Amino acid sequence: MTKLGPRLVGIFGGTFDPIHYGHLRISEELVETMNLREMRFIPAGAPRLRAPPIASPYHRAGMVQAAIQSNVRFILDEREIYRPGTSYSVDTVRELRQEMGEDVTLCLVMGADAFMRLSEWHAWHDLFSLCHIIIAARPGHDLTARLDSLPQALREESSRRWAHSLADLESAQCGLIYIAPTILLDISATVIRTLISTQSSARHLLPEAVLDYIETNHLYSGEE
Ligand code: ATP
Repeated sequence: MTKLGPRLVGIFGGTFDPIHYGHLRISEELVETMNLREMRFIPAGAPRLRAPPIASPYHRAGMVQAAIQSNVRFILDEREIYRPGTSYSVDTVRELRQEMGEDVTLCLVMGADAFMRLSEWHAWHDLFSLCHIIIAARPGHDLTARLDSLPQALREESSRRWAHSLADLESAQCGLIYIAPTILLDISATVIRTLISTQSSARHLLPEAVLDYIETNHLYSGEE
């Protein structure tokens, strides 16, 4: 019987520009299957590895807040948007580790596309002494078929860290990488922004509450 549960905390960073059902479905499944105590949604402030977000940090956090009402274990954590300068996930995980103490196991969640670029992240090696990494499969980014084409440093580092089941995550407090068999949803924030900017419907790709928020605040329509 697995002891996975209340001591596990999920950390889900992203631009969330906007948050959508791809993010929410992964979170719903991981909270349930891993019995996470909570899933923390952490909107990035100024990401280093991609173009600046379209919506302001204030609105991206507002959209996350609107989206997460459906699950009491979903929590908005705004620390990165108020941190001056570039957001580094490793700083966030380190802070959470200090705040939550050694009894909690932190699980950093990311899509397969994000994992493939992990070795470009600031101080990425340090993550393995702070948390496990949970990878959600993403359509168009078949990680298992492309393990051989990962950057060499990431391939070597990950080769000794794969967890083959959720129960494996119990064997260590940090340092393992697990590919979670979550349902694939081919949804991206880019597609949603494009639909809205061309006055097309984005309904059923993200919660109605987020769509209402976008409409009320004139986001992505070119009027903002
Ligand atoms: P954009 O289209 O603007 O690049 P996005 O849809 O990828 O945005 P982000 O907020 O950048 O959304 O993603 C945050 C995290 O969620 C990343 O780790 C990303 O890989 C993951 N993710 C986003 N959408 C999905 C999805 N449909 N399936 C699996 N993972 C996803």
